[in-house]
Amino acid sequence: MSARVLVVDDLPANIKVLEAKLTADYFTVVTASNGIDALRLAESESPDIILLDVMMPGMDGFEVCRRLKGDLKTSHIPVVMVTALSDISDRVTGLESGADDFLTKPVNDVTLFARIRSLSRMKRAMDEWRMREETCDRFGVMATMAGASEMDQPTGAVLIVEPDEFTGERLATALEAQGHQTACVETAEQAFEAIKNGTFDLVIVSLYLDDGDGLRFTSRLRAEDSTRTLPVLLVIEPEEIGGLAKGFEIGVNDYLVRPVDANELKARTRTQLRQKRYRDDLQDNYRRSLSMALTDDLTGLHNHRYLSAHLQTALERAAEQHKPISLLMLDLDFFKSVNDTHGHSVGDNVLKELARRMVRNLREFDMAARLGGEEFVIVMPECEPDIAAKVAERLRHIIADQPFDVGAAAGPLDITASIGVASSKDGKTTAQAIMEAADKALYAAKRGGRNRVESQASDSRADIAGTV
Ligand code: GH3
Ligand code: MG
Ligand code: MG
Repeated sequence: MSARVLVVDDLPANIKVLEAKLTADYFTVVTASNGIDALRLAESESPDIILLDVMMPGMDGFEVCRRLKGDLKTSHIPVVMVTALSDISDRVTGLESGADDFLTKPVNDVTLFARIRSLSRMKRAMDEWRMREETCDRFGVMATMAGASEMDQPTGAVLIVEPDEFTGERLATALEAQGHQTACVETAEQAFEAIKNGTFDLVIVSLYLDDGDGLRFTSRLRAEDSTRTLPVLLVIEPEEIGGLAKGFEIGVNDYLVRPVDANELKARTRTQLRQKRYRDDLQDNYRRSLSMALTDDLTGLHNHRYLSAHLQTALERAAEQHKPISLLMLDLDFFKSVNDTHGHSVGDNVLKELARRMVRNLREFDMAARLGGEEFVIVMPECEPDIAAKVAERLRHIIADQPFDVGAAAGPLDITASIGVASSKDGKTTAQAIMEAADKALYAAKRGGRNRVESQASDSRADIAGTV
C-alpha cells in the first residue's frame, strides 16, 4: 500500500529532506509551505497523513491542526507534528490541538516510516467504514452518530499492565482524575485473565514484563478476534525507542516514554479512546443498518440494491483520492444443468457454498454482492488491474479445484466459474461503464471456453488521451 503524504514546512530544505526520504520509500508526496496552503491541499488532495511543522510564520502548526481537526472534511486525516522542540509542553499543546503524534527533528527514519504506516493503516480502515456508512446513508437507513462533542472528552476503562507497582498506581491515579476507570495488573497472564473477565477500551502495557514482553502480549491480542482492535499504548524506557518500529508493525497504537508525563498520558489516552469510540460507533451503525433490506437472503452477501449505491460511493472516493479501483463479475458455468440434473435446492446450496468461499478469500476492504441468479460482483477499492486479475485467478481456482460437497445424491460436484475483471486507474469512470466493461470481459471469458478470467479497462477516452 502506498500512502499519500502531505508535508507542511516553511523551510524548503526541510521539505526536500522529508520528500526525498518518503519518495524513496514509494510514498506519494504533496507539499505546502504555509498553513493556508496546507488547509487547502488537505481538502483537495485527500492525503492519507499530514506531517506538519510546528513553527511557521503566519499560522503556526498548532492552529493548522486545530482547524484540520475542527473541519468534518479533514478531521479524519491523521496529523503528525514535526518539531525541533523537545519541550514536553509543546507535545501536550500539539496533542490537545488534536495531533495524532509527534516526530522530533532531525527525523529518525525508522520512527518516521513506522508511524506513517501505522497511522495510514488506521486511516484506511476508518475510511472504509465511513464509505460504507455513506452507502447506507444513501438509503436513508443510517441511524445518526453520536455528535462530535460527545466524542471530544471520552472516558473509558483502562487496563494497566505494569510490573512496577508504584508506577502502575501513579498512572492509575492520573487517569482516574480524568474520569477513567482503571484496573492494574503486573503480568501478561493476569492481563489476559482480566481481559477475559472484563471489558476494556484501552490497554497500557510495559515493554518489559516479568513473564514476557509488551510486544508478545500485543501480538497475542491482535491474533484474537475479540481483542484485534483493542488499542494498546506501550510504555518504554528512553533507550528502547529503537524497538518501536517492530512494535508498530505488530499493532501497537502508540507509546509513552518513562518517566511517563501525566499530561502526555492523559492526551494520548484521550486520542486512543476517541479513535476507538469513533470506530465502534461506525461499526454499530453499519451493522444495524445492514440488517435492513440490503443483504441477499440466500447467500447473506450484499444485494443488488446495496451494490449500486456502494459502487457509486467507491468510485467517487477513488476519483477524489486518485486511486485505482477494480471490479470482478463472476458467473457460474453451465449452472442451469446443475439445477436440471440435481435439483433446485442443490443449486441453492452451490450458491451458498460459493459465497462462503468468496468471502473467505477476499480482503476486509473488498465488497462481494450477489447481482442476481448465479452472477456475483466484487468491488475492490485501491486495487490495480494486475492484482485484480490475480485475485480473480485465485477465486477461479478455489472454485474449480475443490468439488462442492452440497448434498447432491451423485456426491461432490465439479463447479467452475468465468470471471470478468474491469479496472479504472483513478476512479474516473461511471458505475455503468465499469459494470459494462466487466460484463464484456465476462462474456469474453465465456466465449473463450469458460472456467477462465478476462480483463478490460474502464476509463473515459478523454482521460486516456490526456495521459501521455
Ligand atoms: P453459462 O455458462 O453460459 O453461464 O451457462 P448457465 O447455464 O450458467 O447460464 P444461464 O444464464 O442460461 O442459466 C442460469 C441458471 O441459473 C438459470 C437458473 O436455473 C439458475 N438460477 C438462477 N438463480 C438461481 C437460484 O437462486 N437458485 C438456483 N438453484 N438456481 C438459480
Ligand atoms: Mg452461468
Ligand atoms: Mg448467468
